[in-house]
Amino acid sequence: MATGRLVQKDWYSMLGAKSTDSLTELKQKYQKLAIKYHPDKQSADVPAGELEERVQRFIEIDQAWKILGNEETKKEYDLQQRESELTHYWPIDAHVHLEDMSWDSVEECYSSVCRCGGKYTLSKNETEDVSLVCCNTCSLIIEIIKDS
Ligand SMILES: [Zn+2]
Repeated sequence: MATGRLVQKDWYSMLGAKSTDSLTELKQKYQKLAIKYHPDKQSADVPAGELEERVQRFIEIDQAWKILGNEETKKEYDLQQRESELTHYWPIDAHVHLEDMSWDSVEECYSSVCRCGGKYTLSKNETEDVSLVCCNTCSLIIEIIKDS
């Protein structure tokens, strides 16, 4: 049971999702897994040990969705992740000046190309309080320099 040790879980990977996924994508992934692991949906011939694992998995998926399916808790979690994990475990690949990023007027976001071919994007309203941006395909991050 609970040991009292607080472990920060990666709710995104629990849903097989990425932090860049939209709420709709997250919901689809959650629903797919929830159906697969739902205790009521298990066939009678699943061995007890396996069944227990699936139920445990279902509980985690459900928890993940409770956090990521709510805009406020998701935002809070995202910020926590950015602050702790990104800066401590992930290398900053480059420092990019905000003015050097290209502005996409359709998406209303700044973007920059990663060396993996992926993209760093920063939406207009994120420019205020976000300085670390993660690539949408690899684990590299860049630090945004704001000259103002
Ligand atoms: Zn990349």
